[in-house]
Amino acid sequence: MDHFSYRDGVLHAEDVPLTAIAEAVGTPVYVYSRATLERHARVFREALADLDDPLVAYSVKANPNGALLAVLARQGLGADVVSSGELLRAVHAGIPADRIVFSGVGKTAEEMRIALEHGIYQFNLESEPEAEMLSTVASGMGKVANVAFRINPDVDAKTHAKISTGKAEDKFGIPYGNALSAYALAAQLPGLRIQGVDVHIGSQITELDPFEVAFFRLGEMIGALRAAGHAIETADLGGGLGVPYDPALPAPPLPADYGAMIARVTKDWNVRLLFEPGRVIAGNAGVLLTRVIRVKQGATQPFVIVDAAMNDLVRPAMYEAWHDIRAVRPRNDHFTASVVGPICETGDTFATARDMDAVEADDLIVFVTAGAYGANMATNYNSRPLVPEVLVSGDKWSVVRARPPIEALIAADHIPDWLE
Ligand code: PLP
Repeated sequence: MDHFSYRDGVLHAEDVPLTAIAEAVGTPVYVYSRATLERHARVFREALADLDDPLVAYSVKANPNGALLAVLARQGLGADVVSSGELLRAVHAGIPADRIVFSGVGKTAEEMRIALEHGIYQFNLESEPEAEMLSTVASGMGKVANVAFRINPDVDAKTHAKISTGKAEDKFGIPYGNALSAYALAAQLPGLRIQGVDVHIGSQITELDPFEVAFFRLGEMIGALRAAGHAIETADLGGGLGVPYDPALPAPPLPADYGAMIARVTKDWNVRLLFEPGRVIAGNAGVLLTRVIRVKQGATQPFVIVDAAMNDLVRPAMYEAWHDIRAVRPRNDHFTASVVGPICETGDTFATARDMDAVEADDLIVFVTAGAYGANMATNYNSRPLVPEVLVSGDKWSVVRARPPIEALIAADHIPDWLE
């Protein structure tokens, strides 16, 4: 459920007409609903109500805007970060370091040092060399790092290949068969304290089965690690729960179903469970608002050319992702059209032969479910300034990231003197 709805024929974010935001900020612009974010955080927490003190660490990569992080910090969420940049943004937004876990396959020594200085809750290690590096860095600082290994359970998450992370051939985690030797190594390293285990098999997962298989394997591994003498106090079950994008497809499992499955599978684990949800918190809390530049008649169909492009929302080009498209002021008419941006790539296509609200030049439309992996994956391709972001709360709204002027992009380049 979200808080984008029509009132008097105009799409609103909570109590604010999107027409007013487009008028004031220009387009394209991402618009987020605070009420939706809060609702998703609450629903996710409630789904885990049967667990003992779970840590819900929002996956910052889904949407790292400081205002959104501040909303989620107030909901008691922690953060899952994959860079020191994300870590510093989370801390700045008010997320306590003792609710932060550091994931990612390529942490550098400098990033480890920053995380240790802040005293984060847990490092999720992805290899033995990474464990050795962290131990050296921690020992050099006179500290001990709390660690888990991310274990690759070799499970097919049945999602898009580019966001599947738990198969044996993927770059993530340590191979399941190597876990015991990795923990034996870590137990000898003076800068580490083994705290738990971790798994994350992918994103936009729309069935419970792959999760259940992965968690079952993780449970067996907890038993084997304990039998080998390791104290396992935490189990991080990662993120990955999918959200509905295409209404024609079956809806993904509800957080409540996910929570019930977890309570069942983990009931004898005797650990604190950690979660890293991203998309399920932020996805439906945002839309990308864009204006139709013109409608062009192609050989076979109309092209709706909008002022957003693949640099602003790359998911359709990168993952063949579907985003629902709605007119902000529907004309009560439909047509079939392709919706494209102005970038010089055929991949700059948001929808092909889509049955959609009929629109004309200057109309506003939105791409729905764009709050996660949207603004955060935007680039300057075609020298387009980064897309701005707005947060709405009731009848209040603010620009929470401004559109940079093109001059800033030009000034960032340096033309060497020796070209003269
Ligand atoms: N945790 C890790 C380690 C990830 O790589 C990701 C994203 O792929 C997430 C959590 C969040 O996943 P999602 O947004 O699908 O919940």
